[in-house]
Amino acid sequence: MGVTAFGYLGIGVSDMERWREFATTGVLGLEETEVAEDGTVYLRMDEYHHRFALHPTGENDLVYMGFEVPGEQAFEEMAQKLRKSGVAVTPGTEEEKANRKVVDLIKFKDPSGIPLEIYHGALQLWERPFKPSRNIAGFKTKADDGTQMGLGHTVLFIKDMKATEAFWRDILGMKTSDYIDLDFALPGLGTATFFHCNPRHHTVAFVEMNVPRFLQHFMLELNEFDDVGHTYYKCQDEGVPMSMNLGKHTNDHMLSFYLVSPSGFDIEYGYGGRLIDDSKWTVQKHIAPSVWGHRPVQSAGAPAS
Ligand code: FE
Repeated sequence: MGVTAFGYLGIGVSDMERWREFATTGVLGLEETEVAEDGTVYLRMDEYHHRFALHPTGENDLVYMGFEVPGEQAFEEMAQKLRKSGVAVTPGTEEEKANRKVVDLIKFKDPSGIPLEIYHGALQLWERPFKPSRNIAGFKTKADDGTQMGLGHTVLFIKDMKATEAFWRDILGMKTSDYIDLDFALPGLGTATFFHCNPRHHTVAFVEMNVPRFLQHFMLELNEFDDVGHTYYKCQDEGVPMSMNLGKHTNDHMLSFYLVSPSGFDIEYGYGGRLIDDSKWTVQKHIAPSVWGHRPVQSAGAPAS
């Protein structure tokens, strides 16, 4: 038992107007669901009310990650498991439940201090079908058999790999996908660990680095490769800052490129990630992040302060 999907991501942004344009018609193609009274901008990519909440609080980093469990029983079991493991768990307030659009949530932190939430009962808007804000064929958030795969994946900077692995594997119930020894290509970065909690190859990955932010990048998976291709050239034509050009990853086989978000962290825009069937998967190791491509782009924009 464990979490089953990365359901929502809260980001604290400083330049809200630039973000709104970037996330919708400018680049990503997400749909704005609503703007709350406190200025929070909700963005959707499928039937869920939102997958991203942009808060005008200026951190330019993640402010929480929300993980889904199938229902109330699993929710209570996870809360108990966390408490038994000595993790300080805070129940979500009525205001937070209303803000996240879920039936219930708990809040806690991982060993690096990453603010995490587990929830059940997310609001879905089937009566208001998802409409991409650009002419794209939408985002892959489910396997072909309907299994929930969440909003994508994220790579996080953490302080202590051993403690992080133990927490996410033994308490949150994630399974190791593979390892990439980054030292071969990028000396000093050590080994990144990739975890999954549904068929998506990885939902989170960790790089041990002492930097003042958690989020290295998050990934959005498109339904059509052409949408990655034409967005790649649209970004080049329009001077949207990129950090890595088109390439294919060794471990999840994602065909993707990397944009620099208005908050300075990266966003991977990809297609074709391979899926994991736990009955057949064996943990693997890689010494290169990419089969080809993903070369650094020199003109990458400077991170926001
Ligand atoms: Fe990625």
